[in-house]
Amino acid sequence: MQTVRYSLLIKGIVQGVGFRPYVFRLAKLLGIGGTVQNTSEGVYAEIEGEAAACDSFIDELKKHPPALAKITSIEIQKKEPRCERDFLIIESRRGVRDALISPDIGTCDACAAEIADKNNRRYRYAFTNCTNCGPRFTIIRDIPYDRKNTTMAQFIQCPECRHEYEDPYDRRFHAQPNACPVCGPRLFFYSAGELQQGDPYALFDEAIRAGRIVAVKGIGGYHLACDAKNREAVARLRKNKIRYDKPFAVMMRDLDTVRRYCHVDEVEEAVLSCSRKPIVLLRKKEDCGIAEETAPRNGRLGVMLPYTPLHLILMQNHDVLVMTSANITDRPMIYDDGEALGSLFGIADAILTHNRPIFRRMDDSVCMAVGGKVRMIRRARGYVPEPVRLRGNGSVILALGAQQKNTFCLVKGEDAFLSGHIGDLDDPDTEKCFESEIKSFMHLFDAEPDIIACDMHPDYVSTRYAERFRDKLPIFQIQHHHAHFASVLAEHQIEEKVIGLIFDGTGYGEDGTLWGGEVLWGGIGESKRIGHMLYAPLLGGEAAIREPWRMALAMMRIAWGEKAALEYFEKFGKVSSLLLAAGDRGINSPVTSSAGRLFDAVAALAGIRTHTTYEGQAAVELEQAIDESEEGSYGIDVGWEVDRMVFDWRQLIRDVVNDVRKGAGQGKIAAKFHRAVVRLLVDAASSAKRQYGSNIVVLSGGVFQNVYLLHHGLAELEKRGFDVYSNEELPANDGGISYGQAAAASRLADK
Ligand code: ZN
Ligand code: ZN
Ligand code: FE
Repeated sequence: MQTVRYSLLIKGIVQGVGFRPYVFRLAKLLGIGGTVQNTSEGVYAEIEGEAAACDSFIDELKKHPPALAKITSIEIQKKEPRCERDFLIIESRRGVRDALISPDIGTCDACAAEIADKNNRRYRYAFTNCTNCGPRFTIIRDIPYDRKNTTMAQFIQCPECRHEYEDPYDRRFHAQPNACPVCGPRLFFYSAGELQQGDPYALFDEAIRAGRIVAVKGIGGYHLACDAKNREAVARLRKNKIRYDKPFAVMMRDLDTVRRYCHVDEVEEAVLSCSRKPIVLLRKKEDCGIAEETAPRNGRLGVMLPYTPLHLILMQNHDVLVMTSANITDRPMIYDDGEALGSLFGIADAILTHNRPIFRRMDDSVCMAVGGKVRMIRRARGYVPEPVRLRGNGSVILALGAQQKNTFCLVKGEDAFLSGHIGDLDDPDTEKCFESEIKSFMHLFDAEPDIIACDMHPDYVSTRYAERFRDKLPIFQIQHHHAHFASVLAEHQIEEKVIGLIFDGTGYGEDGTLWGGEVLWGGIGESKRIGHMLYAPLLGGEAAIREPWRMALAMMRIAWGEKAALEYFEKFGKVSSLLLAAGDRGINSPVTSSAGRLFDAVAALAGIRTHTTYEGQAAVELEQAIDESEEGSYGIDVGWEVDRMVFDWRQLIRDVVNDVRKGAGQGKIAAKFHRAVVRLLVDAASSAKRQYGSNIVVLSGGVFQNVYLLHHGLAELEKRGFDVYSNEELPANDGGISYGQAAAASRLADK
């Protein structure tokens, strides 16, 4: 019988997930002695015992780690045995900061059962959690992940909680946010600016039943809640929030409730109920009783399930509530208690809050399932800061992202740590948050950048931020659509040269014009532009994005001449001719090859939407209008200009107008247009394949959030034998730009 001793350094998501108690129990079971502890690199254990027992220990660790753990590596070294028979969990030790921090995790079944059990000491306790669930990243001030480094530090555990916390056989062993009604955080209900006496749950129910709007403090910030079936309440929330059309997310009690209101398939059910608990875009059932105002003119609904004990308790008496982020229009979600009490009255009638501080704002994640795969639209709570794999060049890379839907990305080793959704950097508060989060990430992941990556747009806040590093570090400016392209390649680890169809809003092109309907040929580091949409001017610059009819006017003039264009938009009066004249003199009318703007123009021509109140609205409503029974299609010609394809939409614009004049319904027009774009994807891919020989096609850019286009685009391309890849873990919109920038920069730096 041979005694051996090993040291094990286990890296990955191994803290805050019950890893040490698991190691402890396993060691006890196998009669192994030694120690286990958290370090800043991960979990460090030394094990000693019979060789066979130690082997099964390591085997078991690899094969059946705790449910929420994600082991990325185990370094094993042989040590001298010390006759250690007992096994101990020892205090955290500081070292190199390599430990992965867990995202926030939705309430587990065991905790949910406790809060529903009258005889349990945590019955209806809103802050119940254990090593398998609860808040993580949003309460962590510093690493290692210990209670004293979280916003729970101020709560001293009662003897019972302390006992659970110290007992390796307990589910709450070293559960850092462990708490109970005796020692933990409490709820407070404010109404009319005053703290109310009485049961906060009852006060909440009463307010919701009376049609009121209640701000509710969650994991990463405040939500605004109201009864989703009360049209008046939802309409008032829209008015108070000054948000006229953009859909509100809802929370539903459980999966059965979701099935009653929405069509939901297996993939959607799985992601809805997983421990990350994102918002999932689902198809609403007709006349299901949810107020039209929740998602006006939209057949889709963003749905999430309760993910905290508080939500579970609140949802007992309500099957569906609007749960939209509490913010002042276009500003970041509110998470600070002082700010909430100071600024949310006026929007909300009451506030349900608590005294466990949120250290870091984190929006709800949003995703959809298309082609049998989950695709992120916003990657935040439940996912961040879990890294996404990126095979880089070994350097630490800081990629600063885009201007809209900003995220940044810090690459260390093969881990890309993406920030949560920062937002639109036009807002000065959002810009401040961008800067402080970058500093925080560099600290938490102990990474000082060697390389900076940013967009090519000279006016992006993120590009200007990159300039600070000008004298110290190499800066790689990555073209916007190349970054979209590279995001897919890096995510799927495609190293060869392939065809990219990047359909987007607008991004700064290599030639200084605004690109956005592009065919690229290349790899992760570099690509060349081999095709694009025919150009049209953005009449009045950015305003043309908010007023799709301007795009329609510009395109119609190109397609059909000035007279026809002015006649069509007669109702807008003199503005039309003024805009065209300004455009002719090149005043504030940059040209663009954007695909998104073509969707805008068609939506305006079809009378679906001429002015928008949120980004992408015209395209969303055009997609929603599709009449699936229509089998016809418009056409977009693929012409050639020297060595480049140009997508000529002039005939399409004329056909749309003719259909409108003939009184063809909006549903038919929307369908024929979408079918034309799907055909264009196939035509462009086929042309590029003939020229360059690749059979691999990549789809990315904000336009691919369009479910119809992505679904049918994937299907039609695959039918013709293409290998098609699109974004899954990263958003196809500008939220994925930072990751693509980092991937591209890592290759350029190596050249
Ligand atoms: Zn739990
Ligand atoms: Zn307690
Ligand atoms: Fe983009």
